[in-house]
Order: sequence, then C-alpha cells, then structure tokens
Amino acid sequence: MNVHDSERMLGILRGEGFVPVDDPGEADLVVFNTCSIRQKAEQKFYSQLGRTKKLKRNNPSMKIAVAGCIAQQEGKALMGRMPYVDLVIGPQNLKRVGGALTVAGGVYTGENPDIATEEIPACRSKGVRAWVNIMYGCNNFCSYCVVPYTRGRERSRPAGNIVSEIEKLAAQGYREVTLLGQNVNSYKENLGFPALLERINGIDGLERIRFVTSHPKDLSTDLVHAIRDLEKVCEHIHLPLQSGSDRILGLMNRRYTFREYLEKIELLREAVPEIAITTDIIAGFPTETEDDHLATINAMMEIRFDGIFAFKYSPRPRTRASGMEGRLPDGLKGERLMEILSLQDEITELKNRELVGKGVEVLVEGPLEAIDGYLTGRTRTNKVVNFPKEDGLVPGCIVYTTIQVAHRHSLDGTLTVSHAE
Ligand code: SAH
Ligand code: SF4
Repeated sequence: MNVHDSERMLGILRGEGFVPVDDPGEADLVVFNTCSIRQKAEQKFYSQLGRTKKLKRNNPSMKIAVAGCIAQQEGKALMGRMPYVDLVIGPQNLKRVGGALTVAGGVYTGENPDIATEEIPACRSKGVRAWVNIMYGCNNFCSYCVVPYTRGRERSRPAGNIVSEIEKLAAQGYREVTLLGQNVNSYKENLGFPALLERINGIDGLERIRFVTSHPKDLSTDLVHAIRDLEKVCEHIHLPLQSGSDRILGLMNRRYTFREYLEKIELLREAVPEIAITTDIIAGFPTETEDDHLATINAMMEIRFDGIFAFKYSPRPRTRASGMEGRLPDGLKGERLMEILSLQDEITELKNRELVGKGVEVLVEGPLEAIDGYLTGRTRTNKVVNFPKEDGLVPGCIVYTTIQVAHRHSLDGTLTVSHAE
C-alpha cells in the first residue's frame, strides 16, 4: 500500500513537471513516504532524514516533505523537532504533495472523508503487474496496530472507478492487478467484494487478479466461491493468523479463535485444493508464554503455510497493546521469531519440492538478472519460477512450465508449451 501511495505522489508530481533525479543533493524537493507499522521502520526513516538535512545545508532551496504514517502520527510536532522539514502530509492527504514548492510550511493530517472518491493519477513502474486501491483506512483496531490511527476510518472506493482504472491498465499492457485494502472482505460499495471481483474478472486483456489483505473474521463462503469460479482470480490468499493461541488472539482483538481460522482454511482447501495460503505472525506479544508460542508453532505445522511474514511485536503509540503489562524482553522475542522463521523455511522448502515434476502456468515478468538467458515469472499461486528463454517470449506472456528443481525461494522450470505473442 505504501509503495502504491508513492506511485500516486509521483503521479501528481510528474503532472506538475517534476522529474526524478539520481542524486538527492540536486533535488528541489525530497519526499519521504514513511511507514510506522513497527519501530524499526521509523528508525530507518529518522536516520535517512538526518542525512538529507546535511544535503539541504548545501542546497538551501531544497524542500523536504514527510509523507505517510509517521507524518500522520507526529503531525506538527515533527516540524517543531525538525525545523528543516517543510511539509507534513498524512496518507489520507497525499494529494497535498501537489504544489509542494509553494505551500511550504503546511501540515496536512486531518481525516479526509473524501479519500475514496478522489481520483489521483499514479505513475507506476513499468512491468506487467499493478497495484490498485479498493479501500482506504481500517476500523478493526487490532490492539497492536497503528493503522486505524494513521490511515483513518475504513472507506470503500466506488466500483465504477476501480473498474475503469483497471480497464485502462489492461489497455496499457498490465496483465495482473493486486487489489489493495487493509481488509478487502469488508468492501462495502456495490454488492460487496465477491461482486467486485466478478466485474473485474470481465475486463478484457487482464489475466490475473490478486488481493491483499483478507481478515479471517470476514472471509465469506462467497469469496471462497469467487476464488474457485472466477478464472482470473489467482489461487492464493494472504490470511494473517498473527498467533495460534486463543488467549493471545483475544488480547489482540482479532475476533476469531484458532479453530475458527482453521475452519476457514478447510473451506478454502476443500473448494480450491491447489490454493497457496500465506500469513503474518507476530512473535512475543505482551504476556505471550512458552505455551502460547508453542500454539503458534503447532498451528504452523498443522496448516503448513506456503509462506509467512513474521515480526517481533513492536509497541506502537496510541494502541491498546502498548499500555499492556507483561512486555517481553527483546532477546526472547528474537528467539521466538527465529524459531518461527526457521520452521517456515523448512516447510516452504518441502512444499516447493512437492512441485517438482508438476506443470504450472507462469506469467512472464522479464529477464532474470542473475542468470543470462533466463526469464522469470510467477505462478498463479505467487511462486517465482525461472526458466530458459525462448525467442518471442516477452513480459506479459503466459507460458506453461514443468518444475525441475525446487529452491527455498524460487523454482527452476522448463517450458512445456509456450504462447509467444
Ligand atoms: N491489514 C492487514 C495488516 C496490515 S499490517 C491485516 O490485518 O492483515 C501488516 C502486518 O504487520 C500485520 O498483519 C502484523 O502481523 C504486523 N504488525 C502490525 N502491527 C504490528 C506491531 N505493532 N508489531 C509487530 N507486528 C505488527
Ligand atoms: Fe491493523 Fe488489524 Fe486493521 Fe490489519 S485489520 S490494519 S492488523 S487494525
């Protein structure tokens, strides 16, 4: 979502005649698009900001804008502490990057109720895959999470606007879209999320539809059927579990139990046996015991995810969990995280090996940088496949490959049938 916010700020700036420069020292305007989901992301930003301050000393007309979630979280105070910052722009107001050179001194962090109907141009990187917003904000207030405070209330973008943006993308040669929202299953416009998928499925020239993120509590049978029945919707779902312990899930305010989560997984696998399931896990939430941690480990062994993103719990300003007793020492959080990650490495490798000898559809993305004469792409289940190049194959082609070798993070294939354009 942040990457796409950057694409949209770039879209606005390009429209005003800005061009990117290689050397930040030469820039008239430096825009930081910041993330505050965990403390580590914040620290990275502050050290980068310090370096830019020095550049501004040699180029005093340079303007510095801080956008994104740290901007929203710190607001005016950011400018107070760092007077060389000229603009503070929260994620709901990113259009304010327009005119940045003339309106220095602004702080734009108000709630923006019009965000879902404002159409902001995006300047996307070249390629065959594009991000598309369908929702903004979040109403879930998971107790660890800062997003509802920084991105504001949940708002759904009108279906007509989404469909016409994707029609244009397909006409420009994009073959895959990833629909973005904090909780796409609570998309409220039109007839809901499955109906939106159905409309997008009808767009000519588009080959694949993905979406992130789904909240387990709102995953409906209609969505499961949409994944099963709509040919362009990929067989992959990112369904954040966070913890395998019901006590911790309760403290996290996730509003499902592990059993309920498992039932959703069963529903998905029954309807779409080849579906890839990935997840997010937080290690070391306040009061997490060795038993709670083991419940997460057991959950991972039972479900066998295709991939995970795992993080050490990080206390965030204003969130309920940040005031909870029973915080764990960093070292213990780190140990649990390592255990989670290494277990997943084993599972990913075993699951990849199960694909050897199988035929898979791959959307060609382009040349593989590491090996000359190879192309790279992804399966519908979002696994990377590298394979020897053949004449006529360009990015955007759909090919069929047979998997020959499995690595931890990619697969090697050979072409079975190609559909060169
Ligand atoms: N809306 C998405 C998640 C967005 S944040 C959802 O609900 O699935 C992405 C992930 O960051 C979360 O799933 C969670 O695992 C992690 N995360 C969020 N806040 C965190 C915190 N304070 N500490 C550690 N990890 C966190
Ligand atoms: Fe954060 Fe929960 Fe909303 Fe996801 S659903 S953005 S984890 S509050």
